Amino acid sequence: MKAYIVEKKTVLHNLEYLLNKAGTAPIWAVLKGNGYGLGVAPMAELCLQKGIRRFAVTELEEAAVIREQDRDAQILCLRPLTEPAELKRLLELDVIATVGATEHAAALNSVAAQMDTVAEVHVKVDTGMGRYGFLPNETEKILDIYRYHDHLAVSGIYTHFHTAFGKEKHTARQVELFHSVLDAIAGAGIESGRCHCCNSHAFLRFPEWKMEGVRLGSAILGRVRVRSGLRKVGICEAAVDEVRWLPTGHTTGYGAAWRAKKPTKIAVIPVGWYHGFTTEYGHDIFRFRDCLRDLLGALKRMVFRKKLYVNIGGKKCPVLGHVGMLHTVCDVSKVKCAPGDKATVEISPVQVRGMDIVFR
Ligand SMILES: *Cc1c(COP(=O)(O)O)cnc(C)c1O
Repeated sequence: MKAYIVEKKTVLHNLEYLLNKAGTAPIWAVLKGNGYGLGVAPMAELCLQKGIRRFAVTELEEAAVIREQDRDAQILCLRPLTEPAELKRLLELDVIATVGATEHAAALNSVAAQMDTVAEVHVKVDTGMGRYGFLPNETEKILDIYRYHDHLAVSGIYTHFHTAFGKEKHTARQVELFHSVLDAIAGAGIESGRCHCCNSHAFLRFPEWKMEGVRLGSAILGRVRVRSGLRKVGICEAAVDEVRWLPTGHTTGYGAAWRAKKPTKIAVIPVGWYHGFTTEYGHDIFRFRDCLRDLLGALKRMVFRKKLYVNIGGKKCPVLGHVGMLHTVCDVSKVKCAPGDKATVEISPVQVRGMDIVFR
């Protein structure tokens, strides 16, 4: 038995915390990646319970799920679409489109004209992310979106931060670039629509930049790298498969990476890296300073003997040897533990697979 448990009250607590902090700035609940792995429908339901009726997604299938739950919710598609069939679907679902290039506007305008309707649009400005958006110096192109498309109604404009978890100066620079665009729009006598830029880390760290809306994903899950009143959402629960004593000198797992120095009571948990336990991501960049940071992290883990744990009966049980594809062995020498007992394992919601996700 194993399942990924999401406590509804924890999600609701986080939403309440964020609503309080946002004050008058509306929250766009970002439910891309199938609601950060937890499912769009149950996550949207919890948001709606708290009165949040603005959502952001990247897929129209995600938008359709939300539309089913709330006929009037505002749903922003963060990804610009250009395929006529997709644009038709977007308009049918009454989803707000992102326009980040003249071609996006032309394609959407023409489909909206065919359907004899007006498409609601948010303009995207690329202040450094390098995807989806007009460059800050392309103000003429941006103004054209507001001026010359009869079937587009621009109701917002936004940008996205690339280093909101890092040094403040990077985000400050992006805010400055975004403001230069907003100033140019105002200077041309045009009403820009609602301006928004903050993702979770930016909002938690620099709430003064919340502008007229914040787009929050990971904060709803309480999985952020800054101190806050948020609580972590999601934990894997599994029943212990086997409990036994291994004699001195015996080993566990592939590579026999652990060897018993004394008789050791171990427990086998039916959860492994296949299910998302310990799988780290982010090793996709080989810039010197990133490699150095990874190396320092590894050194720190070595020096401080940072271990992986399984939690059983409220006790941390160190993982012994390598985590297997489908199994993990941990030390329960000092823990009362029998087969069938409940063990919990930390897995990120976006990594979890091979088990049911249970909201309770
Ligand atoms: C993913 C995403 C967000 C939310 O990011 P979090 O850091 O998870 O809050 C906001 N805006 C855009 C454009 C995104 O792609």
